[in-house]
Amino acid sequence: MKLLEHKIALITGASRGIGEAIALKFAENGADIAFTYLSSDERAKALEQKLQQLGVKAKGYKSDAGDYASTELLTAAVLNDFGAIDICVNNAGISRDNLLLRATPEQWDDVIQANLKSVYNLTRQVIKPMMKARAGSIINLSSVVGIRGNSGQSAYAASKAGVIGFTKSIAMEIGSRNIRVNAIAPGFIETDMTNYLKDGDTSKWFEKIPMQRFGKPEEVANVALFLASELSTYVTGQVINVCGGMTT
Ligand code: NAP
Repeated sequence: MKLLEHKIALITGASRGIGEAIALKFAENGADIAFTYLSSDERAKALEQKLQQLGVKAKGYKSDAGDYASTELLTAAVLNDFGAIDICVNNAGISRDNLLLRATPEQWDDVIQANLKSVYNLTRQVIKPMMKARAGSIINLSSVVGIRGNSGQSAYAASKAGVIGFTKSIAMEIGSRNIRVNAIAPGFIETDMTNYLKDGDTSKWFEKIPMQRFGKPEEVANVALFLASELSTYVTGQVINVCGGMTT
């Protein structure tokens, strides 16, 4: 028996990186997959086909997770196409790194909208069908930076700390409806978002990481699978760090 058989998952920002790894991991475990992206049309088409080859139903939707009206339309389309949403992974996110005095107000707004408002938008939509079904698992991508802060990433850190406060609050609001809400806080994971780190001397980063390496998207996807599945039925309101020990 696969861990997510007969489940329907909605994953934001799955055309690349961690979202793509989560989509593939969930599909390998039997879930039908609705996923979103912002501009990577070709990568989204390729992922849709890869997921279908794994024997599940899969569809990509071009939809801005930071825009409330778009998420309303998206949720209605997914419910129409798939019939239910059992699992929602709020993964879409961006970084716009800069020291505070150099960062523009527009950069602040972009990061908060894509990383934090997006989580509010989709969660507010998906809890309605989940409440009717009296079941659901919501997984929000935070970051170790939301826990520790990071110089040059104040907007990103604020958005990811916000995701943690939101996750815990909604877990308290809807735990009695058997809907679980958890966050994952990855450390440095090898994706497009962290490509720039590999350009320089990686040893200075590895000094901060007990496991002395960056993580792989699949290692985050494994934790998402645990939180999405029946293996975690009494786990809610938690933040699981996937960071090679960085926050120890
Ligand atoms: P990534 O490789 O840059 O991919 C980002 C994904 O999000 C892409 O699929 C992108 O779509 C999509 N996206 C961006 N803005 C969107 C929006 N407004 N609406 C819908 N989709 C949007 O990022 P990643 O490294 O996989 O990160 C995934 C999540 O993990 C993010 O929330 C990130 O903050 C978090 N995280 C990452 C790391 C890390 O080290 N990589 C560490 C901690 C936390 P397009 O391809 O169409 O642009």
